[in-house]
Amino acid sequence: MRILALLLCVVGGLLSAAPAQQPNIVFIFSDDHAYQAISAYGDARKLNQTPNIDRIAKEGMRFDRALVTNSICGPSRAVILTGKYSHLNGFYNNTNSVFNGEQLTFPKLLQKAGYQTAIIGKWHLGSNPTGFNFWQVLPGQGVYYNPPMLTAEGPVKTTGYVTEIITDLSLEWMRKRDKTKPFMLMCQHKAPHREWEPNIKDLNFDKDRVYPEPPTLFDDFANRAKAVGENDMTLEKTITPKDMKLIRPPQLDAEQAGVWDAYYEPRNAAYRQANPQGKDLVRWRYQRYMHDYLATVKSVDDNVGRVLKYLEDEGLADNTIVIYSADQGFYLGEHGWFDKRWIFEESVRTPLLVRWPGVTKPGSINKSLVSNVDYAATFLAMAGQPTPPEMQGRSITPLLAGQIPADWRKEFYYHYYEYPQPHHVAPHYGIITDRYKLVRYYGNGEVTTDLFDSEKDPLELRSFFGEKDYVTVQADLEARLKRLRSELQVPEKDDPMATGERGGKPGAKGKKAGAAKKPAEGTK
Ligand code: CA
Repeated sequence: MRILALLLCVVGGLLSAAPAQQPNIVFIFSDDHAYQAISAYGDARKLNQTPNIDRIAKEGMRFDRALVTNSICGPSRAVILTGKYSHLNGFYNNTNSVFNGEQLTFPKLLQKAGYQTAIIGKWHLGSNPTGFNFWQVLPGQGVYYNPPMLTAEGPVKTTGYVTEIITDLSLEWMRKRDKTKPFMLMCQHKAPHREWEPNIKDLNFDKDRVYPEPPTLFDDFANRAKAVGENDMTLEKTITPKDMKLIRPPQLDAEQAGVWDAYYEPRNAAYRQANPQGKDLVRWRYQRYMHDYLATVKSVDDNVGRVLKYLEDEGLADNTIVIYSADQGFYLGEHGWFDKRWIFEESVRTPLLVRWPGVTKPGSINKSLVSNVDYAATFLAMAGQPTPPEMQGRSITPLLAGQIPADWRKEFYYHYYEYPQPHHVAPHYGIITDRYKLVRYYGNGEVTTDLFDSEKDPLELRSFFGEKDYVTVQADLEARLKRLRSELQVPEKDDPMATGERGGKPGAKGKKAGAAKKPAEGTK
């Protein structure tokens, strides 16, 4: 099946090779942007409006089942660049993984195919970017205000708000590009990553709106494996005063700090006066979290609008494919959580919207299982290039053209490693189908399994594993999971550096790391 798919892919690549004009590719990528916070996805809470991002959906395709292979920042980026799972690209976690830039990546192949390539914004892979004609990236996670940045020539200072700066630099690069060649731009935002610090001018954007709560805000984690309840990523226990804007970020200059204080100080004073406790405290935190998170999303949306306008003003829109996606999904209070990591829906699913004039029918919706592991093959196919045999993803270009290949994947493999810090989410892997998930948690000292049924339990609040009615389903999922692990060459035993446990040296092959799996105390 794989060989046939590969042959079809190569033939398809040859047939579409040497297009009259290779399309430009603008990949706008944000960090931790939950699909629940994109109005095109129509979340029940109607949390916000994102008119500019929605335009990409209206004029292109919305993917409703775009899944990531390992739901955290660095690993997702490494998967996108290489088209391979973490166990093959070697970048497992944000703690001690360093990206090996000598690997085959899609930007390098696009360069060979005649493209100019650039990455601007968040990189978060430890090593310097490779395969780009131009790069200017944030060091590590980066900061929201007046962020220092790195270039091939050394560090540079910037002034202003990170989302606007990344967009300014992206527009500037497009203006200065070699206009005789097609281009591929990765415009990668820091927002809306924690600590969700809004643009100063957007602080009062929602006029103190009260946001609807998710039905699972007070999840007690019953009826699932114990590992789920052992997490440390709740609004109740994990969130910090800095997250909650009870402490002003140090990067603000005096003028910015004045506007910040004028907004937050009276509201913080009211909070201290009321001194909410228990569930009321969680509720207050949820509201503050939604305000801040959605304010950072507003800026991302405004700046997506600036990019779309630039493409139109320059006459580039018709021959430029615009993609909007994020490195993974995020919890907006569901299960009482912020953060990501889990195989559960809000974090494993990521937004994916693609506008490809002349190819993708405007306003179309796709529900196939697609993934960030497919992006590399997709960008290459858009440029008329075949998928290298070592890549594990598959181009979604047929889907974008309205065709779903008969042998498109019916199941998807997920694998998360980072543990125990920073959020005490047990390493786990699993299989996802259109209806079920079978999840195996390990690494917290025991191996346990859950089975979720999205038809009976869409909120993923109970496991059906081991129940009489699920004997056949369970056996089928187990067999398919085993096959997937074999096909994807997942090692039986994790690389000792996979969890990124403290004590492991960056990029080194430590013997100690990953050996002791004792839960840490008081993780924050
Ligand atoms: Ca992220």
